Order: sequence, then C-alpha cells, then structure tokens
Amino acid sequence: MEFPSKLIENGVSAFASLPGIGKKTALRLVIHLLQEDEELSKNISESIFKLRTEIKYCQKCGNISDDEICSICNNPSRKHDIICVVENFRDILAIENTGQYRGVYHILGGLISPLDGIGPEKLNISSLIQRIQSQNIQEIIMALNPTIEGDTTLFYLSKQLSQYPVTLTTLARGVAFGGELEYVDEVTLARSIQSRRPFENYISGQNS
Ligand SMILES: [Zn+2]
Repeated sequence: MEFPSKLIENGVSAFASLPGIGKKTALRLVIHLLQEDEELSKNISESIFKLRTEIKYCQKCGNISDDEICSICNNPSRKHDIICVVENFRDILAIENTGQYRGVYHILGGLISPLDGIGPEKLNISSLIQRIQSQNIQEIIMALNPTIEGDTTLFYLSKQLSQYPVTLTTLARGVAFGGELEYVDEVTLARSIQSRRPFENYISGQNS
C-alpha cells in the first residue's frame, strides 16, 4: 500500500504491528482517528502508555495488578488455602468469568516445552513452592492446558509437590458441555472415559 503521507504510513504500520490487525483495518483506524476530535487520539495514546509503564505484577501470584498485591490475593473473602496454578493471566480471566472459583491463583508464566527451550527453571515454580512452605495450603489445582506441554508441566509439578502435605487436583477433562460424542477427538474422549466418575457425583455436581 502506498500512502500520500509519511504520517499516515507510520500510523498504519503502528496499528498493523498489533496482533489480528491487518493493513486495511489499520488504515480504517487511522482514518477514523483523523475524523474524530484530537482528544480521542490523546486519550488512547495516553492510556496505552500508562498501561504499559504503570502496570504491576502481583508479588504473591504474578497476576496483573494496579498494586503490589492483586485484588484477588488482597480479598479476605477468597479461600487463601486453595491455589489454582495457571499458565497466564488470560487463564485467570477465563476461570474468574465462570464465577465458580473462590480460591487464589499462581501464574507459572509459561509451560515446560523442551522444543522451545523452556525448561522448568524459566517458570515461576520456586515461588509456588515458597508459598506452599510458608502458608497452610490445603489444595493445589493444576489448571493447565490439555496439551503435551501442559501434561509435561503437570507431571513435573506433581513430582515437585509430592513431598508437601497438599492435595493435588487437576481439571476434569472431558466432553465439552453441549458437545456431541461423535465429534470429540479420540484423545479427549479417551480421557473422558479414563477420568469417569460415579454417576452420583455427576448428579450432585450438577446441583452444587
Ligand atoms: Zn495476586
């Protein structure tokens, strides 16, 4: 794309450097900004810069936060003896959106992936162990993606944590609600069968 203005070209390439935004969308955004008041451009650029420079990471769990300790870790009505271990901030958002979890979190910051050169030492595992050692933690829920990397990390964590008196649990992996068995891939279906639970539990689980 050729532009009559270097300023437009810079604007387009700035927007197009973001994920999911192509040159056409970037140009549309640029034109929109030119048509609106200067105030809009000022607000957007200031809030992006503030976001990037003032954001903090919770010293306890690694969650994105406005303060040293995040709003979840700071909430006295959460169960602080249950830690849900997740890969990243987006997983916390997803679990929080279910409204079903009242414990706290721990962000690993990635998953073990030897092919990508990510070993356990690159993840926030020692800080998790410190939390287990220094607080009275009852349960660790390992809520990791059902992938090879997730399983590798799960296996590593379960070995590392086996020496501590905490209950280790993982998410039940099964057929998605509303899914049809014939369209579920074999691995998922095999796991659903392997991790089957008594029918009474299924019924009582529905009511809780
Ligand atoms: Zn926190």
